[in-house]
Amino acid sequence: MTRDLAAFCDYLKTHGLKLTASRRLVVEKLAGTHGHISADDLLDLLRRDKTPVSKATVYRTLSILEESGLFDGHDFGSGRKLYEPVVGRAHHDHLYCINCGRVIEFEEPRIERLQQEVVTHHQFTPVYHSHKIFGYCADCRDKTAPQKGGDHV
Ligand SMILES: [Zn+2]
Ligand SMILES: [Zn+2]
Repeated sequence: MTRDLAAFCDYLKTHGLKLTASRRLVVEKLAGTHGHISADDLLDLLRRDKTPVSKATVYRTLSILEESGLFDGHDFGSGRKLYEPVVGRAHHDHLYCINCGRVIEFEEPRIERLQQEVVTHHQFTPVYHSHKIFGYCADCRDKTAPQKGGDHV
């Protein structure tokens, strides 16, 4: 049993929920991805494996996982959440390509430090933060950004 699955099992037990065969399949599949996957993409992966898991089960399991704090569901707009494991991972923030949906992770101690200064200044107790930058990745920038005209640079 993987660490994610074991932790999920514990969470279900303490909340009076059952680890059904299909919930187990969802968690195992999710743990095998590298994160930043949407419910629909996860459903596609399961269907490709000819795994009989309903859409409702995938959505429900993901929401339990998010409530449990084992996985983060990042909302990158248009109601599409991308899930990634939290346990055993260092804090990081995200760059999101609004053209191809690519997610790039970054960790910048200077930004973290500045954020800490801001909350201290406001005597604010932070619980979590999520820093997202939306734009175009290097591949998409060349395809979508308006070309700089030589005369107008
Ligand atoms: Zn892109
Ligand atoms: Zn991430």
